[in-house]
Order: sequence, then structure tokens, then C-alpha cells
Amino acid sequence: MLVTQRYPSAAGAHTRWAGLRRKLWLLPLLASLVFVGGVLAWAYRADRAEREDRRATMITDALSSEAQLQGLLTVERARLQDLARQLPRRAHNTAGLLASTEVTEGLRRLWLSVTWLDANNRILAHVPEQNTLAGVLPGELIDGPGLSAHLTQPVGAERLVVRYSPTLLLRRGIPWWLAHKYDMQLIDSNEQVIASLDQTPLRTDSPGRESYMVSVGGNMPGAFLELGLREAPPPFWRTLPLVLMAGFLGLMLVATLLLRRQVVRISRAESAWRTEAAWRQAMEDSALVGLRARDAEGRILYVNRTFCTMVGLSAEQLVGLEPPMPYWPPDELDEVLLRHKRNLEGKAPRDGYEALWCHQDGRRLNVMVFESPLIDAHGRQTGWMGSIIDITARKQLEARERHQAEAMAQQSRLTTLGEVASALAHQLNQPLTVIMGYNAGLQRMLADAGYDNQAVLHALAQQGDQAAEAGRIVRRIREFLTRRAPQREACDLGAIARRAAALLQRDLQTADVQLHWALAAGLPPVFADPILLEQVLINLLRNAVDAITGVAVADRPAGAAAGRIRITAQPGGERFVRLDVEDNGPGLSGRTVDNLSAPFYSTKSDGMGMGLAICRSVIEVHHGGMDAGSSSLGGARFSFTLPVFDAQMHEASLADEDARANQEAQG
Ligand code: ADP
Repeated sequence: MLVTQRYPSAAGAHTRWAGLRRKLWLLPLLASLVFVGGVLAWAYRADRAEREDRRATMITDALSSEAQLQGLLTVERARLQDLARQLPRRAHNTAGLLASTEVTEGLRRLWLSVTWLDANNRILAHVPEQNTLAGVLPGELIDGPGLSAHLTQPVGAERLVVRYSPTLLLRRGIPWWLAHKYDMQLIDSNEQVIASLDQTPLRTDSPGRESYMVSVGGNMPGAFLELGLREAPPPFWRTLPLVLMAGFLGLMLVATLLLRRQVVRISRAESAWRTEAAWRQAMEDSALVGLRARDAEGRILYVNRTFCTMVGLSAEQLVGLEPPMPYWPPDELDEVLLRHKRNLEGKAPRDGYEALWCHQDGRRLNVMVFESPLIDAHGRQTGWMGSIIDITARKQLEARERHQAEAMAQQSRLTTLGEVASALAHQLNQPLTVIMGYNAGLQRMLADAGYDNQAVLHALAQQGDQAAEAGRIVRRIREFLTRRAPQREACDLGAIARRAAALLQRDLQTADVQLHWALAAGLPPVFADPILLEQVLINLLRNAVDAITGVAVADRPAGAAAGRIRITAQPGGERFVRLDVEDNGPGLSGRTVDNLSAPFYSTKSDGMGMGLAICRSVIEVHHGGMDAGSSSLGGARFSFTLPVFDAQMHEASLADEDARANQEAQG
């Protein structure tokens, strides 16, 4: 997985969002507070509306109660007036008063006493007298609570004064349901309680108590009826819904605290997890081992950065891919699919297996893959986790070492061969010298004897020449193999080539090969050992003949009945002469001069594979270069260049040879 770089502003926004998220636990509490605030506002408004309703009802009740009391007093006044009308006919004493039924009924109802005053305010009669009260009036009337009030009614010049109990007035005048609901009091203008429905009169102006006062007026001037709600309704904040709300808020507070604790724990765990994930990512990205997770079907679930680098594809391109994978070599798809199937079946070798993968740029890489089961959080295997090591460099090193070992082995074989050839040349030198001696002796003896058969003499002379030539060849090769410097001199490359071709004349004829010459006129002489150079040319020509004869006649292109070899000599640069040997054989099939001139490389059943190796080293010893390629004749082309002879070079070479000879003599 690739690490994405965050821009500063995005990082800032992310940090802010993370900070906000850490405060999210407050949200339920805030929502609850808003909700409770709403309920409070609603309760407050409902309470106020209810209070206003109650007050309106109280006013109505006060006015109706006042009207009731007024009505009652009006009735009492009418009764008093009736009594006043009867009195002139009665005796002006207590008996006269008591004789009236109005008096006794009045006393039974409401009146506390009736006093008859003359014009000078002297009491003519007063009811009830102390002794007459018992049995006439109920006890409660005598000891009624509160003050008393009175009604006055003129009777001519005299007056009747009726003292009555305002308390009884209240009890009789106020209906029970109102008395049940309100504290009712009659008070005077000094706020003195005149009467109260309750035994202990209450002042209704205690704080929080709702009360209303209405003037009684008329029959009770200066008196007020005051109503106070008996049961003051609890303040709205003490009502059940709000108590429940308070409880709810308490619970929310506890829940919020628990939530906060949980959020803190989770955010701690999250930050620990993030740190761990960052560590793991850093470790995976810095690892040299490629990691690849696959599900049970082989679909890629995850790759690390090293894996992406190995195959040259990004994680986005790889994740989700199903077989065949783009990094599998297309030419080995069948084999890789078989291996893939084996791996998914859990049969991958425990100590890993080697595979060949393809980088996106076409480069091949050798990898070592170790598969292990991919286990999920529940302990179930969901796929395979592969660890991949790129072993391309190691493989190349191994190949190089192997190659070096082979080269060393070849080198040692070459050395042995050189030694054998050197010994052989030494051994051959002697018989060749003997042959030459016998040949010279024979020629001399025949000459002395006057023998004149020219054919025999010519054959003998040829035999002597060939034996001498063989001796020279053997000596030069021996010198070359024993690392003696070649004996260089100015030589005509064209002439050497023609000599080599003449030596192979019979082979060329047998193989039906035509030789074409393309020797540039006026070529400068080259500076080389003519005998070694002749061997090089013989070798090249023989290889060309072998190549041509190797192709079956039927396979030859139409019209090309015979093999063709072309020898071209021309200036090769400013100070070099170049010679090409071309043929119309099968060609080199892409092989280079390096491949072909490797010691012991041969495609022939009887070939030793040393010819081109020796040719190349001979040319290089002469400070020249060798090359091979395809020819316009359709087959192979072998070319070499040699330096042009100059006198200075020759002198320097002679000086070198002298110095070496001296060294050897001293050694
Ligand atoms: P040898 O002749 O013993 O095989 P050489 O070193 O001379 O060893 O040649 C090495 C190989 O180079 C030959 O076996 C042959 O495959 C290849 N070769 C040489 N000359 C030619 C040519 N003219 N055309 C095609 N192949 C050639």
C-alpha cells in the first residue's frame, strides 16, 4: 500500500476534524440540555397561562362570593327592617324584643345580639341577656371567631343595633366548594382580620400565595373579602415533568461521563492503532522483501511497496487482480498456472520455490517465493501471504561464477593442449629434419649418379620443400605456443592468401567451390608473420568449405549449384589492411565472433573448436582485430585487419626481439 502525502491544509482540516470527533461525546448531553431547556420554557409558559386562568377564576369566585355575602346582608337588613316595623307595638324592654320571632330566628341565623337604643343611646333592651342565652343559641354563635360587625336600623328616634358574626356570615354565605378551595377572610381597611373561615385566621399575603381582595362595601363599609388559594400550586419547576426532566438530566450526565470515558478509551486505542499501523507501513515499505496477500481464489488483496517496485506496477493496478497476473511471463503461462493452482491448494514447498517473473519494462527477474497461510481475526484461513525475494542479482552472480569456472577449466585445458602441442612440435621437428636430411642426401646421390628423370627429381625436390615447410610450420607453432613473439616482417597479404588457397586447392575442387578474388590493387604490405598468417587463412578457408559442404545440395538456393568463396583484400582504415573471407554456406545464425572463437566451441562432430580461437589470438598478437558477420553471398563473413608495415615499427620490433633474446640468454 502506498503512503499518500497529505497537503498541509488537508492535514490541518484532518486534525481539526479529529479534535471535533474527540468532543463528540458531549453531543448527547448538549442535545439533552436543549431538550430540557425547551421543556422548561414550555412548562414556564404553561404555568403562567395556568396562573392567569387561576387568577381569573379567583376573581370570578371573589366577585360571586362578595355578591353572595351582599345578598345575605341585604336579607338580614330586610329582616331587621321587619323587626323595626314591629317594635313600636311591643314593650320597650327585653321581653318585647324577645317576643318577636325575628329576633330569635335572627339569633339562630347570624345575629349575635340585638340592642335597642333610645334617642340618647341608652339601652332599652338587649338580647341576649346572659342567662337567656343558654339553650337559645348554639355555642358556636356565642364563641364565634373573629370580630363582630353590626347593622343599625332606626326605629323612629330610637335605633336597633344588631351585632352579627362576620365569620358566620362567611360560613353561611360562601358555598362549600369555594370554602374548600380558598382561604376566605374579611379584613378591614387596616388589614385587620374581621372574620375567617378557618379557626386560625391566615394572612394571605405570605409570599407565593395567590390572593385576591374585593371590597364588600354596601352593608359592610370599609370591609374587604380576601380570597387566598388554599393549596398554593407548586412552582412550575417543582412539577412532576420537571422533576422527571431533572432526573433525566442526571441520567444523561452519568451516561455522558460513561460515554466520555469510553470515547477516551477508544480514541486512545485508535491512536495506538494508528501509530502501530504507521510503524507497520514503514516497516513494510522499508523491507527488501516483497509482500503479497491473496484470497482463496488467488485475487490480490494487498501488496507492499517493494512488491510494486519488483514488478513495476502500482498497488492500485495490482490489488483486485485475478490470475493470470501481468507479471507472469507469457511464454511460461501454462507452467505458472499449474504452480499457482498447486500453491492455492496449500501444496507450495515450505522452504519456498523459485519463479521467473516479468517486470513491466520487459525485464525478467528471478524470485524466491515463500507462501504462508493468511489468517483473519477469527483464526480462519482466508488466503495466502507470499514473501518474495528478488534473487536476480544472486542468480547472475552464480551464472558469472559458473562461467568463470568453465572458462578457467577451458583455460587449463588450453594450457595442457598448448603444452602437448609444444611437445608434439618438438617431437616432430626431429623426424622432419631427418626426412629433409634423407631427401637432400637422396637428391645429391641421384645427381652424382647422373640420374635425369625430371619427374622423379621434381617430386623429390617438392618432397624436400614440403618437409622443410612442415618443419617451419611446426617450429612457428611451437614458438607461438611457447609464447615466443611471432617473426614479423613486411608481407603481401594477397600473396599469402593465394598460397593458402593453393594449399587447399584439392579440398576446394572436391567440394565444388569456386573461389573469387577481390584483391585491391596496390595494397601496402602488412607487418606480420607470413607463416602464422597463412595458417589463419587456411583455417578460415577450410571452415568456409566445411560450412558449404555441410549444407545438403538439395537445400542450396536454386541455381547455386556450386559453393562460392570470396576473398576480398582492401585498405581497412588509414594504417590497416582488411581481409574478408565470405561464403555462401548456412551463415552464423546470429552467433558473434566472441561465441565462435571461444576455445573448444565447435558444431562439427569431428571439430576441436580451437581453429578460430587460435586465428583470433594470432591476429590480436599482430595488433589486429577479428570480426564475423553475414555475407552478401548468403553465408558467413570472417574478417581481420592487420597493421600496415612501416620501417619504424620494424626496427622497434627488432629491438624488442633482441632484448627478449638477451633476456632469454641471461635467463
Ligand atoms: P572447428 O572447425 O573445429 O569446429 P573452429 O573454431 O574453426 O572449430 O570453428 C568453430 C565453429 O564456428 C564451427 O564449428 C562452426 O560451427 C562455426 N563456423 C566457423 N566458420 C564458419 C562458417 N564459415 N560458416 C558457418 N559456421 C562457421
